[in-house]
Amino acid sequence: MNINHAHLEVAFSLSIDELKKQNLPAHLKKRWARAAAKAKERLVEQPFFAWQPQALLIVSVPSDATSEIGCRFYEANELTCRRVDKSGLCEAFFEGFPCWHRAAFLLLKIYFGETSANSSNGVENEFSPLEKNCQPKLTPLVDTSANRS
Ligand SMILES: [Zn+2]
Repeated sequence: MNINHAHLEVAFSLSIDELKKQNLPAHLKKRWARAAAKAKERLVEQPFFAWQPQALLIVSVPSDATSEIGCRFYEANELTCRRVDKSGLCEAFFEGFPCWHRAAFLLLKIYFGETSANSSNGVENEFSPLEKNCQPKLTPLVDTSANRS
């Protein structure tokens, strides 16, 4: 499937805003921001994933520099990240660090407007950041890219 770049960009900036509000040590925030930036890049360049509200199945294509044969398969959500092809945990997750797989899960959660997590604590389900708040911002973005090409 193809990712809408402008929507992904909005999801990315929303996730960074959200990250700033989190009560996390600065170095972890930095790592999350880096993971989110990498996730954004990968989702555009290698949109090989299957999204479900509970978990994201995503393929990581090794760069040419590594001698690894085949791809890595990860299943990530807010709480955990594990390797599906090796039946183990994601290395970064295992070491207690943010990884881009989980960041990708969070980005796509915003991207697809999945708000079920909020609906349980009384928040109305009409919250739809992509459609309402961000549409005015999207339009100029789309226009400039169209003119450039
Ligand atoms: Zn991971």
